[in-house]
Amino acid sequence: MVTGIDGKMVYRLAEGNASMVSLLGSKGAHASEMASIGIPVPPGFVITTEACLEFFKVGRQLPGGLWDAIVANVRTLEEETGRTFGDPDNPLVVSVRSGSAVSMPGMMDTILNMGVTDLTVAGVAEMMKDERPAMDAYRRLVQGFGSVVLGIEKDKFETLLEEAKSSRGLAFDYELDAAALRELVTQFRGVITEVTGSDISDDPWVLLRQAIEAVFDSWNNPRAITYREFQGISHDLGTGCVIMAMVFGNLGPDSGTGVLFTRSPATGEKTLYGEFLRNAQGEDVVAGVRTPQRIETLQAEEASLYAEIEEMARKLEEHYKEVQDIEFTVERGKLYILQTRTAKRTAPAAVRIAVDFVEEGVLSKEDALGRIPASDITQVLMPRFDGDAKALATQTALLAVGVGGSPGAASGVVVLDPDRAVERAEAGDLVILVRHETSPDDVHGIIKAQGVLTSRGGMTSHAAVVTRGLGKPCVVGCEELHVDMVARTATARGVTVAEGDLISIDGGTGEVFVGELATVEPNADDLHELNVLLSWADEVRKLQVWANADTPQDAQRAHQNGAEGIGLCRTEHMFFAADRLPHIQALLEVGPQASKVIRETDELAKALELAPASERESLIRRVKEAREKVESSKEVLAFHTELAELEKFQTADFYGILKAMEGKPVVVRLLDAPLHEFLPHYEDLIREEEQIFAAQRASNGSQASFGAVLPRPEQRDAQGFLLTPRDAQPHDAETADERGESVPVSEAAVEHHRLLELVKALRETNPMLGHRGCRVGLTMPEIYEMQVRAIVTAACRLTEEGTKINPEIMIPIVSHVNELKWLRPRLRAVAKETRERLGVEVTYKFGTMIEVPRAALTAGEIAENTEFFSFGSNDLTQMTFGYSRDDAETKFLNHYVETEILPWNPFDSIDFTGVGRLMRIAVEEGRRVNPELPIGICGEHGGEPYSIAFCHEIGLNYVSASPYRVPVARLAAAQSALGHLKSNI
Ligand code: PEP
Ligand code: MG
Repeated sequence: MVTGIDGKMVYRLAEGNASMVSLLGSKGAHASEMASIGIPVPPGFVITTEACLEFFKVGRQLPGGLWDAIVANVRTLEEETGRTFGDPDNPLVVSVRSGSAVSMPGMMDTILNMGVTDLTVAGVAEMMKDERPAMDAYRRLVQGFGSVVLGIEKDKFETLLEEAKSSRGLAFDYELDAAALRELVTQFRGVITEVTGSDISDDPWVLLRQAIEAVFDSWNNPRAITYREFQGISHDLGTGCVIMAMVFGNLGPDSGTGVLFTRSPATGEKTLYGEFLRNAQGEDVVAGVRTPQRIETLQAEEASLYAEIEEMARKLEEHYKEVQDIEFTVERGKLYILQTRTAKRTAPAAVRIAVDFVEEGVLSKEDALGRIPASDITQVLMPRFDGDAKALATQTALLAVGVGGSPGAASGVVVLDPDRAVERAEAGDLVILVRHETSPDDVHGIIKAQGVLTSRGGMTSHAAVVTRGLGKPCVVGCEELHVDMVARTATARGVTVAEGDLISIDGGTGEVFVGELATVEPNADDLHELNVLLSWADEVRKLQVWANADTPQDAQRAHQNGAEGIGLCRTEHMFFAADRLPHIQALLEVGPQASKVIRETDELAKALELAPASERESLIRRVKEAREKVESSKEVLAFHTELAELEKFQTADFYGILKAMEGKPVVVRLLDAPLHEFLPHYEDLIREEEQIFAAQRASNGSQASFGAVLPRPEQRDAQGFLLTPRDAQPHDAETADERGESVPVSEAAVEHHRLLELVKALRETNPMLGHRGCRVGLTMPEIYEMQVRAIVTAACRLTEEGTKINPEIMIPIVSHVNELKWLRPRLRAVAKETRERLGVEVTYKFGTMIEVPRAALTAGEIAENTEFFSFGSNDLTQMTFGYSRDDAETKFLNHYVETEILPWNPFDSIDFTGVGRLMRIAVEEGRRVNPELPIGICGEHGGEPYSIAFCHEIGLNYVSASPYRVPVARLAAAQSALGHLKSNI
């Protein structure tokens, strides 16, 4: 049963309003609203989305009673227009449009000119006072009906249309005269008969019913389903069907059709932005088949019409308090608004419009803050081409210039069709999709492309609208570019690029370059409106916003973007630089053994302090021997040498970051990578070693083998420890020969093999659950001690220089309070000793990550041994679900989300019920012990709006996001505080 109000399935426009979007679809609800505020809308009615859902429920047929209701409403429409549907003398002609609650541009079907038949076309010509547009309307109806309702390939009609033009030497559809159009209608009907076995009916009621069924059916066409899946739109909404009296934009030069934005969708500037196509119907503009004139050119040509359009635009904008995207038609000088909706605009435009609306008194600051989806503002900070690279490319590599359809900059290989775009993107290529124009059938390719370039169409063409929604750069209307689908090339200005060649597009300026151009991040200082909006956000938000940053440059950027602290400095990232990696590798080679001997000696010394007299003599001797062993150990020496080298780097790193943040908190997390991350892949090393030996065998004909480079017994020291790489001597031919191996092995090969041995030793089956975080700190405490010394040294230096600093030291991967109980006093002692040695008083905090479920569940006892918590929600998600962060997304997680096993990817947005529950427990237990306990989050979720709303709801102090997401987090935190954003989506 249909459950609409009173089971009503059809509403006249006068009966609806904007609040009825879910029942009437957006198009229907807003046409109703427009009618109610005196905007000139053609009369019509709407079939509800519930009727559409019922259509599917009862086996893809109109539910009982619906047809009668439609007929009754057509009768009312006849009264309103004074015309009769199917009347040969005075025919009513209508449009049949799809339109769901959520905008799905071009994804579903629409049939125009319904009511023009063989029997009525003369009457239509009479009404139009011209035979040509009547025949054109008839031609369009047959073409649209054939392709949309009957599913016949569009090309079959397009080819005939092209032939009709070319055989007459014409360039444009509108140049075809009535006779030519009549001939086309006959040909089109022939195609229909040939493909379906029967001609279309001449009864408009039969056609209307089929058209309505086709509109409903189009809700579930494959491209609509794909689009909904990608956009996360529910499949349960259904589409409305809007039936309106047709107004004709193709009645000659005083008629036309257009689409416009009430402000620029690219920049937000307060000026009408759009296109107008004379003597045309709406589909001609959107399809981008003819490039329309820009709306502002109307101002000079027809000032009064332009003024009337502008008046309607401002009226709609003030009514909706939002920038509008309007479709209109001018029929012999009379303006009709066919559709309005909130415009899709770029994020920079959305920000500017929100700020301008506040300044114009249309919106309050609080409402303006709720207007922009927080994640959209990353686009304000989108990359653009590096100035120098672009200047050079403009001189040497400019291929063509079109219209900037969607801002941003991208490089990629040219691909000419969407399926190949998907293929190449999935194979790892960055792709620019190049087309004459795009259609909804291309959406899968657009989604996978870095950007889109079309030779036709304008700002409101399909390509421009879709890419703006997706936040991808797009250049449209690049008419000088000749796209050859057969040769699979694109040519302009005498230069040809083939499929697979690299090009770069600037979606702001419309420029297209040959080759790849470097990109740079935009400068936040330039973004005045964004800063204004964010300053309002800062006034209301409760959550602080910190940033994750590993380098002084990142810290600087984070600071510029408004970060109030660094919530996570991942120190392991500092070790990946080429000048540091050899040191950490050498450290890891000797560290486990060296640290073990050092600790054994310390423990003996401790035992000696407590030992009864009877045991002292033997212990004194053992301590002495152990100390001698430590002192003479080359491993220990190498360990300390490498630690000292790394300490120098680390001190400089921390100095830079603490300085950049000028007294704001900086959380330095002690080493946390699984150790193998510092080393090459095991499989790669094995393969390389095979190659080394193959090459050596080939060059000297000898019997090289793995055994040949195993360390010789004498490469161990007296205690049996492995010598460090530098002390170890490579084999030479003589030694190997002596052992019967006859292999001259190069020094590089020996080094390579040592690395392989090290990788073997550190390999783990589950590294993410293995020797990482504080587990390294407990087994090789000297590494954490070195890091603490570096932090405190940097802090002391800056303090001496008069720079304010606020360091916080954080221990990762804690699962048991005893880990902290062991590490904390030890590290505190190092900090104290460093401060005292340098003679400078600095303070710091000592905190813990909560990223292992056990830590969350025992947060009370952990809180007794720490001064702050920071949720590592990446690991907490990994370990709560038992999903490997490294593998889940490529293996099954996407499938889980697509099939709705999971409502969303929990690595993107917090799983509120599971991971979130652990977080709540940790907050409650931690604050029970220490009501003032500062708690933040530093996993990737810290920059994701819904997760931020959750953090606000459970009372965290701050979120820490990657620097480019700091502005997003500031806005999302404000939206959470104002109640615009809630976690329970
Ligand atoms: C986390 O686990 O959320 C975290 C911030 O640490 P990492 O991503 O470095 O493991
Ligand atoms: Mg972690």
